[in-house]
Amino acid sequence: MTTTEDLRQRIADTIGQNMILRRPVEQIAADVLALPELRQLREDLETETNVAQRLTAINRRLEVRLARVRALHKGPRTDRPGSGCVQCGIVWPCPTSRALDGPPQGPEGESAGPEPNPSRRA
Ligand SMILES: [Zn+2]
Repeated sequence: MTTTEDLRQRIADTIGQNMILRRPVEQIAADVLALPELRQLREDLETETNVAQRLTAINRRLEVRLARVRALHKGPRTDRPGSGCVQCGIVWPCPTSRALDGPPQGPEGESAGPEPNPSRRA
């Protein structure tokens, strides 16, 4: 059974919905864009984009430096039996090459993972 209060509420809801529908789309869009949550989300995305761009630039610079060090510390010369690294002369792979391509090192230089070079285990 529908009470008078129910009818009043339904009429008020219908009027409210019609008011919403009559609002210009631009106004609704402006209201949505002005929501604090959305503004914060946009700022967060811009910050994340800036951080990602800075990290990418840093990564590129580090890759260039690593390539320079790798170019210096190449494998032994094939025309000289028993020769080591072309840069430091140490038996290949030299410590620099192992540092570049081996497991991550701890703060004190200790290995943080298994040693990849079997010649060092002997
Ligand atoms: Zn070397």
